[in-house]
Amino acid sequence: MMAKNNSHIISVLIISVFMFMLNPYVSYSQSRYDNSFPVRVGIFYGSVSKASYAVSGTNIQIYDSSKKAIETGAASLKVSLSSNIYVSSMSENSYEDAVQSAKKYSDKALVYYNNGEFYAGSTVPNADLIPALGSKAIFTLDDGRLIACEGSKVIGLSSEDSVTALENVKYRGKLNFYIKGSSLYAINEVGMQDYLYGVVPKEMVSSWEIEALKAQAIVAKNHTITNYNKHAADGFNVCKSTHCQVYGGYSAEQEKTNQSVDKTEGIVMMYKGAPAEAYFHSSSGGRTESIGNMWNYGLDYMSGVKDPYSTGTPYDNWEAILSASEIEQALLRYNYDVGTVVGIKILEISENDRVMKLGVLGTKGMKILEKDGIRTVLGSSKFKSTYFTLTDTGVRSSSALERNRSDINIQDNGLKNAFDKLDSFVSTRISDEAQNFVSGSSFVFSGRGFGHGIGLSQYGANNMAKEGNDFKDIINYYFKGVTIG
Ligand SMILES: [Zn+2]
Repeated sequence: MMAKNNSHIISVLIISVFMFMLNPYVSYSQSRYDNSFPVRVGIFYGSVSKASYAVSGTNIQIYDSSKKAIETGAASLKVSLSSNIYVSSMSENSYEDAVQSAKKYSDKALVYYNNGEFYAGSTVPNADLIPALGSKAIFTLDDGRLIACEGSKVIGLSSEDSVTALENVKYRGKLNFYIKGSSLYAINEVGMQDYLYGVVPKEMVSSWEIEALKAQAIVAKNHTITNYNKHAADGFNVCKSTHCQVYGGYSAEQEKTNQSVDKTEGIVMMYKGAPAEAYFHSSSGGRTESIGNMWNYGLDYMSGVKDPYSTGTPYDNWEAILSASEIEQALLRYNYDVGTVVGIKILEISENDRVMKLGVLGTKGMKILEKDGIRTVLGSSKFKSTYFTLTDTGVRSSSALERNRSDINIQDNGLKNAFDKLDSFVSTRISDEAQNFVSGSSFVFSGRGFGHGIGLSQYGANNMAKEGNDFKDIINYYFKGVTIG
Protein backbone atom coordinates (compact mmCIF):
# COMPACT_ATOMS: atom_id res chain seq x y z
CA MET A 1 0.00 0.00 0.00
CA MET A 2 2.76 2.37 0.99
CA ALA A 3 4.86 1.44 -2.00
CA LYS A 4 1.90 2.01 -4.29
CA ASN A 5 1.26 5.44 -2.79
CA ASN A 6 4.90 6.36 -3.05
CA SER A 7 5.13 5.35 -6.66
CA HIS A 8 1.99 7.35 -7.33
CA ILE A 9 3.53 10.38 -5.62
CA ILE A 10 6.74 9.94 -7.57
CA SER A 11 4.92 9.67 -10.88
CA VAL A 12 2.87 12.76 -10.03
CA LEU A 13 6.13 14.56 -9.21
CA ILE A 14 7.69 13.47 -12.48
CA ILE A 15 4.62 14.58 -14.41
CA SER A 16 4.60 17.91 -12.54
CA VAL A 17 8.24 18.53 -13.35
CA PHE A 18 7.58 17.63 -16.96
CA MET A 19 4.57 19.95 -17.11
CA PHE A 20 6.70 22.70 -15.59
CA MET A 21 9.28 22.24 -18.32
CA LEU A 22 6.62 22.39 -21.00
CA ASN A 23 4.85 25.43 -19.62
CA PRO A 24 5.95 27.05 -16.39
CA TYR A 25 2.56 28.64 -15.92
CA VAL A 26 0.64 25.37 -15.68
CA SER A 27 2.25 24.75 -12.30
CA TYR A 28 1.33 28.16 -10.91
CA SER A 29 -1.01 28.02 -7.96
CA GLN A 30 -4.41 29.51 -8.74
CA SER A 31 -3.76 32.73 -6.90
CA ARG A 32 -0.93 33.46 -9.30
CA TYR A 33 -3.36 34.04 -12.14
CA ASP A 34 -3.82 37.61 -11.00
CA ASN A 35 -2.46 40.80 -12.51
CA SER A 36 1.11 39.67 -11.86
CA PHE A 37 0.63 37.00 -14.52
CA PRO A 38 1.99 38.48 -17.75
CA VAL A 39 0.16 38.25 -21.07
CA ARG A 40 1.88 39.34 -24.28
CA VAL A 41 -0.72 40.15 -26.92
CA GLY A 42 0.18 40.30 -30.60
CA ILE A 43 -1.27 43.56 -31.94
CA PHE A 44 0.64 43.97 -35.21
CA TYR A 45 2.67 40.97 -36.37
CA GLY A 46 3.30 38.82 -39.45
CA SER A 47 1.23 39.93 -42.41
CA VAL A 48 -0.58 42.62 -40.38
CA SER A 49 2.64 44.30 -39.20
CA LYS A 50 3.36 47.84 -40.41
CA ALA A 51 6.44 49.71 -41.57
CA SER A 52 5.94 52.32 -38.87
CA TYR A 53 3.76 52.91 -35.82
CA ALA A 54 2.44 56.05 -34.16
CA VAL A 55 2.71 56.00 -30.36
CA SER A 56 1.46 58.63 -27.93
CA GLY A 57 1.26 59.06 -24.16
CA THR A 58 2.88 61.07 -21.37
CA ASN A 59 6.64 61.17 -20.80
CA ILE A 60 7.16 58.00 -22.81
CA GLN A 61 9.79 55.74 -21.31
CA ILE A 62 11.90 53.14 -23.03
CA TYR A 63 12.50 49.80 -21.37
CA ASP A 64 15.20 47.27 -22.07
CA SER A 65 13.71 43.94 -20.91
CA SER A 66 12.20 44.97 -17.59
CA LYS A 67 14.72 47.69 -16.80
CA LYS A 68 13.95 51.34 -17.54
CA ALA A 69 16.57 52.65 -19.92
CA ILE A 70 15.50 56.12 -21.10
CA GLU A 71 13.01 58.76 -20.02
CA THR A 72 12.33 60.49 -23.30
CA GLY A 73 9.94 63.19 -22.04
CA ALA A 74 8.10 62.74 -25.34
CA ALA A 75 4.31 62.82 -25.69
CA SER A 76 4.44 61.12 -29.07
CA LEU A 77 6.86 59.26 -31.26
CA LYS A 78 7.05 57.12 -34.36
CA VAL A 79 8.58 53.66 -34.43
CA SER A 80 10.09 52.43 -37.69
CA LEU A 81 12.78 50.21 -39.15
CA SER A 82 16.22 51.25 -40.32
CA SER A 83 19.38 49.44 -41.25
CA ASN A 84 21.54 52.51 -42.01
CA ILE A 85 22.91 54.23 -38.95
CA TYR A 86 26.44 55.26 -37.99
CA VAL A 87 27.66 55.22 -34.41
CA SER A 88 30.62 56.21 -32.28
CA SER A 89 32.82 53.37 -31.05
CA MET A 90 32.95 54.94 -27.56
CA SER A 91 29.93 54.84 -25.27
CA GLU A 92 28.78 57.85 -23.21
CA ASN A 93 27.98 58.03 -19.50
CA SER A 94 24.30 58.74 -19.95
CA TYR A 95 21.57 59.19 -22.51
CA GLU A 96 21.79 63.00 -22.06
CA ASP A 97 25.57 62.97 -22.71
CA ALA A 98 25.02 60.88 -25.84
CA VAL A 99 22.40 63.40 -27.07
CA GLN A 100 24.89 66.27 -26.61
CA SER A 101 27.67 64.38 -28.44
CA ALA A 102 25.32 63.35 -31.25
CA LYS A 103 24.55 67.00 -32.02
CA LYS A 104 28.07 67.27 -33.46
CA TYR A 105 27.06 64.95 -36.28
CA SER A 106 23.55 66.04 -37.10
CA ASP A 107 20.82 68.44 -36.04
CA LYS A 108 18.71 65.42 -35.36
CA ALA A 109 20.59 63.88 -32.48
CA LEU A 110 20.67 60.11 -32.87
CA VAL A 111 21.47 57.97 -29.85
CA TYR A 112 22.16 54.29 -30.29
CA TYR A 113 21.21 52.24 -27.23
CA ASN A 114 22.50 48.72 -26.74
CA ASN A 115 23.06 46.54 -23.65
CA GLY A 116 22.78 49.40 -21.16
CA GLU A 117 25.22 51.62 -23.10
CA PHE A 118 24.50 54.89 -24.96
CA TYR A 119 26.38 55.85 -28.11
CA ALA A 120 26.26 59.08 -30.11
CA GLY A 121 25.34 58.46 -33.73
CA SER A 122 23.85 59.76 -36.94
CA THR A 123 21.77 58.65 -39.90
CA VAL A 124 24.33 60.23 -42.26
CA PRO A 125 27.89 58.90 -42.71
CA ASN A 126 30.65 60.68 -40.79
CA ALA A 127 34.41 60.03 -40.67
CA ASP A 128 34.27 59.65 -36.87
CA LEU A 129 31.46 57.11 -36.97
CA ILE A 130 31.27 53.47 -37.97
CA PRO A 131 28.28 51.78 -39.67
CA ALA A 132 26.17 49.79 -37.20
CA LEU A 133 25.24 46.54 -38.88
CA GLY A 134 21.81 44.93 -38.74
CA SER A 135 18.25 46.22 -38.55
CA LYS A 136 17.39 48.75 -35.89
CA ALA A 137 14.12 49.87 -34.42
CA ILE A 138 14.20 53.66 -34.66
CA PHE A 139 12.13 55.79 -32.29
CA THR A 140 11.60 59.27 -33.75
CA LEU A 141 10.56 61.56 -30.90
CA ASP A 142 8.20 64.52 -31.34
CA ASP A 143 11.12 67.00 -31.05
CA GLY A 144 13.13 65.24 -33.78
CA ARG A 145 15.54 63.28 -31.57
CA LEU A 146 16.20 59.73 -32.71
CA ILE A 147 16.83 56.65 -30.59
CA ALA A 148 18.03 53.49 -32.30
CA CYS A 149 17.78 50.07 -30.62
CA GLU A 150 18.78 46.61 -31.76
CA GLY A 151 15.77 45.31 -33.67
CA SER A 152 16.32 41.69 -32.71
CA LYS A 153 15.83 42.56 -29.04
CA VAL A 154 12.54 43.40 -27.40
CA ILE A 155 12.31 47.08 -26.54
CA GLY A 156 9.39 48.27 -24.49
CA LEU A 157 7.66 51.64 -24.31
CA SER A 158 5.32 52.86 -21.65
CA SER A 159 3.67 56.07 -20.67
CA GLU A 160 4.07 57.73 -17.29
CA ASP A 161 0.30 57.62 -16.77
CA SER A 162 0.38 53.88 -17.66
CA VAL A 163 -1.84 54.12 -20.74
CA THR A 164 -0.09 54.34 -24.09
CA ALA A 165 -1.72 54.67 -27.52
CA LEU A 166 -0.56 52.60 -30.47
CA GLU A 167 -2.08 53.65 -33.79
CA ASN A 168 -4.79 55.52 -31.84
CA VAL A 169 -5.83 52.57 -29.67
CA LYS A 170 -4.94 52.89 -26.00
CA TYR A 171 -3.34 50.06 -24.07
CA ARG A 172 -2.37 49.49 -20.47
CA GLY A 173 1.03 48.01 -19.68
CA LYS A 174 3.90 48.19 -22.12
CA LEU A 175 4.17 48.26 -25.88
CA ASN A 176 6.98 46.03 -27.07
CA PHE A 177 8.68 46.25 -30.43
CA TYR A 178 11.05 43.85 -32.14
CA ILE A 179 12.01 42.85 -35.62
CA LYS A 180 11.16 39.38 -36.87
CA GLY A 181 12.30 38.51 -40.36
CA SER A 182 11.91 41.81 -42.14
CA SER A 183 8.85 42.93 -40.16
CA LEU A 184 8.52 45.20 -37.16
CA TYR A 185 6.22 43.57 -34.58
CA ALA A 186 4.18 45.52 -32.03
CA ILE A 187 3.10 43.63 -28.91
CA ASN A 188 1.16 44.73 -25.84
CA GLU A 189 2.51 43.30 -22.60
CA VAL A 190 -0.03 43.49 -19.77
CA GLY A 191 -1.03 41.75 -16.58
CA MET A 192 -3.84 39.15 -16.74
CA GLN A 193 -6.42 41.50 -15.20
CA ASP A 194 -5.51 44.35 -17.53
CA TYR A 195 -5.74 41.95 -20.47
CA LEU A 196 -9.19 40.68 -19.43
CA TYR A 197 -10.43 44.29 -19.09
CA GLY A 198 -9.86 44.56 -22.84
CA VAL A 199 -11.31 41.13 -23.71
CA VAL A 200 -14.61 40.79 -21.81
CA PRO A 201 -16.30 43.84 -23.46
CA LYS A 202 -15.22 42.55 -26.90
CA GLU A 203 -16.43 39.00 -26.32
CA MET A 204 -19.72 39.66 -24.47
CA VAL A 205 -22.24 42.50 -24.53
CA SER A 206 -20.94 44.80 -21.78
CA SER A 207 -24.41 45.74 -20.53
CA TRP A 208 -25.33 42.10 -19.84
CA GLU A 209 -25.91 40.64 -16.36
CA ILE A 210 -22.90 40.98 -14.05
CA GLU A 211 -22.90 37.26 -13.15
CA ALA A 212 -22.79 36.33 -16.84
CA LEU A 213 -19.92 38.79 -17.35
CA LYS A 214 -18.08 37.25 -14.39
CA ALA A 215 -18.50 33.75 -15.87
CA GLN A 216 -17.19 35.14 -19.18
CA ALA A 217 -14.19 36.71 -17.42
CA ILE A 218 -13.24 33.36 -15.87
CA VAL A 219 -13.76 31.43 -19.11
CA ALA A 220 -11.66 34.02 -20.96
CA LYS A 221 -8.94 33.69 -18.31
CA ASN A 222 -8.88 29.89 -18.55
CA HIS A 223 -8.81 30.12 -22.33
CA THR A 224 -5.79 32.42 -22.09
CA ILE A 225 -3.93 30.18 -19.64
CA THR A 226 -4.51 27.02 -21.68
CA ASN A 227 -3.60 28.73 -24.96
CA TYR A 228 -0.62 30.54 -23.53
CA ASN A 229 1.89 29.16 -26.03
CA LYS A 230 -0.27 29.49 -29.11
CA HIS A 231 1.96 32.17 -30.64
CA ALA A 232 5.22 31.24 -28.90
CA ALA A 233 7.04 30.95 -32.22
CA ASP A 234 6.27 34.62 -32.92
CA GLY A 235 7.43 35.79 -29.51
CA PHE A 236 4.08 36.50 -27.86
CA ASN A 237 1.28 34.54 -26.14
CA VAL A 238 -2.05 35.37 -27.75
CA CYS A 239 -3.21 37.53 -30.64
CA LYS A 240 -5.84 40.24 -30.50
CA SER A 241 -8.27 38.60 -32.94
CA THR A 242 -10.90 35.84 -32.89
CA HIS A 243 -8.10 33.33 -33.54
CA CYS A 244 -7.39 33.69 -29.81
CA GLN A 245 -9.81 36.17 -28.19
CA VAL A 246 -10.80 39.62 -29.36
CA TYR A 247 -8.88 42.25 -27.38
CA GLY A 248 -9.48 45.98 -27.62
CA GLY A 249 -7.10 47.25 -24.94
CA TYR A 250 -7.91 50.17 -22.65
CA SER A 251 -9.96 51.82 -25.40
CA ALA A 252 -12.52 49.00 -25.22
CA GLU A 253 -12.93 48.98 -21.44
CA GLN A 254 -16.33 49.45 -19.81
CA GLU A 255 -17.09 50.01 -16.14
CA LYS A 256 -19.33 46.95 -15.77
CA THR A 257 -16.97 44.54 -17.54
CA ASN A 258 -14.00 45.86 -15.51
CA GLN A 259 -16.07 45.14 -12.41
CA SER A 260 -16.65 41.54 -13.55
CA VAL A 261 -12.88 41.12 -13.99
CA ASP A 262 -12.11 42.70 -10.60
CA LYS A 263 -14.58 40.48 -8.77
CA THR A 264 -13.07 37.30 -10.27
CA GLU A 265 -9.39 38.19 -9.84
CA GLY A 266 -7.31 35.05 -9.29
CA ILE A 267 -10.31 32.74 -9.78
CA VAL A 268 -9.88 29.99 -12.37
CA MET A 269 -11.66 26.79 -13.38
CA MET A 270 -9.66 23.73 -12.36
CA TYR A 271 -10.02 20.14 -13.45
CA LYS A 272 -7.94 17.37 -11.88
CA GLY A 273 -5.45 19.88 -10.50
CA ALA A 274 -4.84 21.86 -13.69
CA PRO A 275 -6.55 24.88 -15.24
CA ALA A 276 -9.37 23.63 -17.45
CA GLU A 277 -9.58 24.41 -21.14
CA ALA A 278 -12.57 26.64 -21.69
CA TYR A 279 -14.49 27.37 -24.85
CA PHE A 280 -17.50 29.57 -25.35
CA HIS A 281 -19.90 30.41 -28.13
CA SER A 282 -22.78 32.79 -28.73
CA SER A 283 -25.82 30.53 -28.34
CA SER A 284 -26.19 26.76 -28.22
CA GLY A 285 -29.70 26.92 -29.63
CA GLY A 286 -30.94 24.54 -26.94
CA ARG A 287 -28.15 21.97 -26.58
CA THR A 288 -24.41 22.29 -26.25
CA GLU A 289 -22.10 19.83 -27.97
CA SER A 290 -19.37 17.54 -26.67
CA ILE A 291 -15.97 18.82 -27.69
CA GLY A 292 -15.04 15.44 -29.24
CA ASN A 293 -17.97 15.72 -31.64
CA MET A 294 -16.65 19.03 -32.95
CA TRP A 295 -12.89 18.74 -32.82
CA ASN A 296 -10.52 15.82 -32.62
CA TYR A 297 -10.11 15.42 -28.89
CA GLY A 298 -12.47 14.86 -25.99
CA LEU A 299 -12.62 16.40 -22.51
CA ASP A 300 -14.94 15.03 -19.82
CA TYR A 301 -15.96 18.47 -18.61
CA MET A 302 -16.98 19.72 -22.03
CA SER A 303 -19.77 17.27 -22.81
CA GLY A 304 -23.07 18.30 -24.35
CA VAL A 305 -25.80 19.51 -22.01
CA LYS A 306 -29.48 20.25 -22.58
CA ASP A 307 -29.61 24.03 -22.57
CA PRO A 308 -33.10 25.53 -22.31
CA TYR A 309 -31.44 28.83 -21.27
CA SER A 310 -30.23 29.28 -24.84
CA THR A 311 -33.68 29.63 -26.32
CA GLY A 312 -35.50 32.89 -26.82
CA THR A 313 -32.38 34.41 -28.35
CA PRO A 314 -31.89 36.08 -31.76
CA TYR A 315 -30.39 32.77 -32.95
CA ASP A 316 -33.29 30.44 -32.16
CA ASN A 317 -33.75 29.80 -35.85
CA TRP A 318 -31.66 30.53 -38.88
CA GLU A 319 -31.82 29.48 -42.47
CA ALA A 320 -29.04 29.19 -45.02
CA ILE A 321 -29.85 28.73 -48.68
CA LEU A 322 -26.97 27.65 -50.85
CA SER A 323 -27.12 26.98 -54.55
CA ALA A 324 -25.44 23.89 -55.96
CA SER A 325 -22.81 26.07 -57.64
CA GLU A 326 -22.09 27.96 -54.41
CA ILE A 327 -21.41 24.63 -52.73
CA GLU A 328 -19.21 23.52 -55.64
CA GLN A 329 -17.20 26.73 -55.35
CA ALA A 330 -16.89 26.38 -51.56
CA LEU A 331 -15.54 22.84 -51.97
CA LEU A 332 -13.15 23.90 -54.72
CA ARG A 333 -11.61 26.50 -52.40
CA TYR A 334 -10.44 23.51 -50.34
CA ASN A 335 -9.46 21.54 -53.47
CA TYR A 336 -12.42 19.19 -53.23
CA ASP A 337 -13.58 18.69 -56.81
CA VAL A 338 -16.81 16.70 -56.81
CA GLY A 339 -17.86 18.04 -60.21
CA THR A 340 -21.44 19.28 -60.47
CA VAL A 341 -23.25 18.97 -57.14
CA VAL A 342 -26.32 16.74 -57.57
CA GLY A 343 -27.30 15.97 -54.00
CA ILE A 344 -26.68 16.50 -50.31
CA LYS A 345 -27.38 14.26 -47.36
CA ILE A 346 -26.87 14.36 -43.62
CA LEU A 347 -25.04 11.10 -42.99
CA GLU A 348 -24.54 11.25 -39.23
CA ILE A 349 -25.72 13.31 -36.29
CA SER A 350 -24.32 13.38 -32.78
CA GLU A 351 -26.19 12.45 -29.61
CA ASN A 352 -26.64 16.21 -29.19
CA ASP A 353 -28.32 16.55 -32.58
CA ARG A 354 -25.49 18.33 -34.37
CA VAL A 355 -24.47 17.20 -37.84
CA MET A 356 -21.30 15.12 -37.72
CA LYS A 357 -21.11 14.15 -41.39
CA LEU A 358 -22.58 15.88 -44.40
CA GLY A 359 -22.24 14.14 -47.76
CA VAL A 360 -22.00 16.27 -50.90
CA LEU A 361 -22.60 14.18 -53.99
CA GLY A 362 -21.29 15.39 -57.29
CA THR A 363 -20.84 14.02 -60.78
CA LYS A 364 -17.21 13.18 -59.98
CA GLY A 365 -17.82 11.62 -56.58
CA MET A 366 -18.76 12.45 -53.02
CA LYS A 367 -17.05 14.54 -50.38
CA ILE A 368 -18.02 14.02 -46.77
CA LEU A 369 -17.62 17.16 -44.68
CA GLU A 370 -17.17 16.40 -41.03
CA LYS A 371 -17.80 18.13 -37.71
CA ASP A 372 -16.45 21.70 -37.56
CA GLY A 373 -15.19 21.29 -41.15
CA ILE A 374 -18.77 21.68 -42.38
CA ARG A 375 -18.85 25.32 -41.29
CA THR A 376 -15.23 25.93 -42.26
CA VAL A 377 -15.84 24.83 -45.84
CA LEU A 378 -19.39 26.08 -46.40
CA GLY A 379 -18.84 29.39 -44.58
CA SER A 380 -19.44 30.03 -40.89
CA SER A 381 -21.27 33.32 -41.43
CA LYS A 382 -24.05 31.55 -43.37
CA PHE A 383 -23.82 28.31 -41.43
CA LYS A 384 -24.25 29.69 -37.95
CA SER A 385 -23.86 26.23 -36.40
CA THR A 386 -23.83 22.51 -37.23
CA TYR A 387 -27.15 22.20 -35.38
CA PHE A 388 -29.24 22.04 -38.56
CA THR A 389 -31.54 19.97 -40.69
CA LEU A 390 -31.63 19.79 -44.45
CA THR A 391 -34.91 20.71 -46.06
CA ASP A 392 -35.95 19.13 -49.28
CA THR A 393 -36.54 22.01 -51.69
CA GLY A 394 -39.11 20.00 -53.58
CA VAL A 395 -37.37 20.64 -56.87
CA ARG A 396 -36.08 17.12 -57.15
CA SER A 397 -35.20 16.23 -60.70
CA SER A 398 -35.02 12.48 -61.00
CA SER A 399 -33.97 12.49 -64.63
CA ALA A 400 -31.03 14.77 -63.84
CA LEU A 401 -30.07 12.52 -60.98
CA GLU A 402 -30.28 9.44 -63.19
CA ARG A 403 -28.12 11.13 -65.78
CA ASN A 404 -25.57 12.13 -63.17
CA ARG A 405 -25.54 8.66 -61.70
CA SER A 406 -24.33 7.24 -65.00
CA ASP A 407 -21.69 10.02 -65.15
CA ILE A 408 -20.48 8.95 -61.76
CA ASN A 409 -20.15 5.35 -62.75
CA ILE A 410 -18.26 6.22 -65.92
CA GLN A 411 -15.79 8.36 -64.00
CA ASP A 412 -15.23 5.98 -61.13
CA ASN A 413 -11.85 4.79 -62.36
CA GLY A 414 -10.37 8.24 -62.50
CA LEU A 415 -11.53 9.18 -59.06
CA LYS A 416 -9.03 7.42 -56.89
CA ASN A 417 -6.11 9.63 -57.83
CA ALA A 418 -7.97 12.88 -57.47
CA PHE A 419 -9.35 11.96 -54.07
CA ASP A 420 -6.45 10.03 -52.62
CA LYS A 421 -5.93 12.61 -49.94
CA LEU A 422 -9.53 13.11 -48.95
CA ASP A 423 -10.47 11.51 -45.65
CA SER A 424 -13.53 9.81 -47.04
CA PHE A 425 -14.68 9.14 -50.51
CA VAL A 426 -17.39 6.93 -51.85
CA SER A 427 -17.39 5.73 -55.40
CA THR A 428 -19.12 2.45 -56.15
CA ARG A 429 -21.85 2.79 -53.54
CA ILE A 430 -23.03 6.15 -54.81
CA SER A 431 -25.62 4.68 -57.16
CA ASP A 432 -27.30 2.83 -54.31
CA GLU A 433 -27.37 5.81 -52.02
CA ALA A 434 -28.15 8.52 -54.51
CA GLN A 435 -31.90 8.24 -54.16
CA ASN A 436 -31.65 9.25 -50.50
CA PHE A 437 -29.87 12.50 -51.23
CA VAL A 438 -31.72 15.77 -51.33
CA SER A 439 -31.22 17.05 -54.84
CA GLY A 440 -31.94 20.31 -56.57
CA SER A 441 -30.34 23.51 -57.78
CA SER A 442 -30.34 24.95 -54.27
CA PHE A 443 -30.43 23.59 -50.76
CA VAL A 444 -32.13 24.91 -47.65
CA PHE A 445 -30.51 24.36 -44.27
CA SER A 446 -32.57 25.21 -41.19
CA GLY A 447 -30.60 25.57 -38.01
CA ARG A 448 -30.48 26.71 -34.42
CA GLY A 449 -27.93 28.55 -32.33
CA PHE A 450 -24.77 30.42 -33.26
CA GLY A 451 -21.27 29.06 -32.86
CA HIS A 452 -19.61 25.70 -32.31
CA GLY A 453 -21.76 24.91 -29.28
CA ILE A 454 -18.82 23.88 -27.08
CA GLY A 455 -18.61 24.97 -23.43
CA LEU A 456 -20.35 28.13 -22.27
CA SER A 457 -23.28 29.52 -24.21
CA GLN A 458 -23.16 33.28 -23.79
CA TYR A 459 -26.86 33.89 -24.30
CA GLY A 460 -27.52 30.93 -22.00
CA ALA A 461 -25.24 32.42 -19.33
CA ASN A 462 -27.06 35.74 -19.51
CA ASN A 463 -30.46 34.06 -19.22
CA MET A 464 -29.23 31.98 -16.27
CA ALA A 465 -28.04 35.16 -14.54
CA LYS A 466 -31.42 36.79 -15.17
CA GLU A 467 -33.01 33.89 -13.32
CA GLY A 468 -30.83 34.55 -10.28
CA ASN A 469 -27.94 32.14 -10.88
CA ASP A 470 -24.44 33.32 -9.99
CA PHE A 471 -21.25 32.85 -12.00
CA LYS A 472 -20.46 29.56 -10.23
CA ASP A 473 -23.87 28.12 -11.13
CA ILE A 474 -23.33 29.19 -14.73
CA ILE A 475 -19.87 27.65 -15.00
CA ASN A 476 -20.94 24.44 -13.27
CA TYR A 477 -23.85 24.14 -15.68
CA TYR A 478 -21.74 24.32 -18.83
CA PHE A 479 -18.56 22.66 -17.52
CA LYS A 480 -19.47 19.52 -15.60
CA GLY A 481 -17.08 18.55 -12.82
CA VAL A 482 -14.75 21.56 -12.71
CA THR A 483 -13.89 23.31 -9.46
CA ILE A 484 -13.91 27.08 -9.23
CA GLY A 485 -11.56 28.84 -6.88
ZN1 LIG B 1 -4.22 33.90 -32.02
